[in-house]
Amino acid sequence: MSILVVGSIAYDTVETPYGSVQDSPGGSALYFSAAASLFSPVNVVGVVGSDFNASKISFLKKRGVNLDGLYVESGDTFRWGGRYHKDLNQRDTLFTYLNVFEDFQPIIPEQYKDSKYIFLANIAPDLQLQVLDQIHKPKLVILDTMNFWISGKRDTLEEVFKRSDIVILNDEEVREFTNEYSLLTAINLIHKLGPKAIVIKKGEHGALLHYEDQFFFTPAYPLDRVIDPTGAGDSFAGGFVGYIAKEGKITKTTLRKAVMYGSSVASYNVQDFSFNALIDLDMKKIQNRFEEFKLMTQV
Ligand code: AMP
Repeated sequence: MSILVVGSIAYDTVETPYGSVQDSPGGSALYFSAAASLFSPVNVVGVVGSDFNASKISFLKKRGVNLDGLYVESGDTFRWGGRYHKDLNQRDTLFTYLNVFEDFQPIIPEQYKDSKYIFLANIAPDLQLQVLDQIHKPKLVILDTMNFWISGKRDTLEEVFKRSDIVILNDEEVREFTNEYSLLTAINLIHKLGPKAIVIKKGEHGALLHYEDQFFFTPAYPLDRVIDPTGAGDSFAGGFVGYIAKEGKITKTTLRKAVMYGSSVASYNVQDFSFNALIDLDMKKIQNRFEEFKLMTQV
């Protein structure tokens, strides 16, 4: 089953202890699509400026990513800058320029309105609501966001939480959103808003899923060198949602396997800048890592 994703398409400027890149393609929707398209067809809705060079994302078309909903507006593409510390779980946002996103109204093409799997990638919560208003009968709405929107658009974001089935957040975001340090208390507060499943990403310490009153934990794949963690969350979400859409059912086992597929894809993504490591990735490599995850966690 195909997935509809709405999110940012960006030029990122990133510094890590291993180097830096300037104006390299990124954004939540692109990282997500590069990952999810390894599992299921993806339809993208987003906006870029007239400065965007589409040749850099031509590999997505070959992977079955449909870009009919990619609007080109006059102005500059969204830009984000980040600097990672030696502890790569820590990053400072250096700048966020919304540019063409400032006035963007996402119009969902008619042929996408019956989409069943909706991924609301990191983007302004008012845009996420506008998207949901246009979809007829979604089967599964999965939400991602980040501190920028939690602190800036808290109330609107809460409305999006209420309309989502699954939320994917990192531990800091969960604490900031709920104002609760205890993750367990925070998880219960989020369930009360509506989401049936909560995925909490913990960087190099892996990810956890809370669903039907049970926890499921996976480690992160042990790597000797993480080159660029940018997009780890979005590529995790791509593997996670891509696998669920491929299976076409929402069960405890599917969600648990989805966390492992998400972790597997994210572990490749962080091994190079931008989404370069996802371009030549294939299902065989992902499956190998999935099997290693199984071995790492079984007694
Ligand atoms: P992640 O590392 O998974 O948190 O995602 C990083 C990506 O999110 C980068 O490619 C950025 O372009 C994009 N991004 C950063 N800030 C925002 C924001 N406020 N809204 C939407 N996308 C953003």
